[in-house]
Amino acid sequence: MWVPWLKSPTRIRTNNPESPNSDFRCSSFKDVHILFEDDPPKLPHSPVHKSSLLNRVRISASIIRVWAAAYHRPPPNAHNRIVVYYTSLRIVRRTFEDCRAVRSILKGFRVKMDERDLSMDSAFLEELQKITGSKKNLTLPRVFIDGKYVGGADEIRRLHEIGELKRMIEGLALAEPGVCGVCGGHRFVLCEWCNGSHKVYIEKTGFKSCSDCNLNGLNRCSACTSVVF
Ligand SMILES: [Zn+2]
Ligand SMILES: [Zn+2]
Repeated sequence: MWVPWLKSPTRIRTNNPESPNSDFRCSSFKDVHILFEDDPPKLPHSPVHKSSLLNRVRISASIIRVWAAAYHRPPPNAHNRIVVYYTSLRIVRRTFEDCRAVRSILKGFRVKMDERDLSMDSAFLEELQKITGSKKNLTLPRVFIDGKYVGGADEIRRLHEIGELKRMIEGLALAEPGVCGVCGGHRFVLCEWCNGSHKVYIEKTGFKSCSDCNLNGLNRCSACTSVVF
């Protein structure tokens, strides 16, 4: 089902081992690329190796205090689950590695997780911009737990190392076992209306953009993701 995507005029080479196809297209490349230009805001540093109960509380409290002040708006459909905004494109190596590492840590908890890949759907970029209230200085990944912003790669790693992440995730709905039978785990399906071309032919006006899918000719899988179109 990934093969028709290669019809795209814009093809980006990626070595993403999680993708069944190493060729990948992204019409919103420019939008996504601006996310990777700046480092995230620096958080108060606390060495993990000194972790005592007091230290753990101090680290997690400082992280949450900084970020809670930043975003008051939760992502849509974020209740009782993890929402992670990330990219599967290897444009900037560190960003790609951070996204992969954070998703791997979070998947280990086997709770419901909505992974929102900005390189697959530019609507996720707009969504994240609304949440943060900023169109610049956005870095990936960004993780929300039960609608509350927790942080990016540094914060997730630190919270995981001190055991605090596990505590924050406790009580979330468990993930469905196995792979989604509708999309095969890709979280997107080809648009049935335009068959993935993002163009439809209208007799009077000729070809026009399909209004049923995103720029990549895809729709979010209604069986395993939140559909916000
Ligand atoms: Zn699915
Ligand atoms: Zn379509």
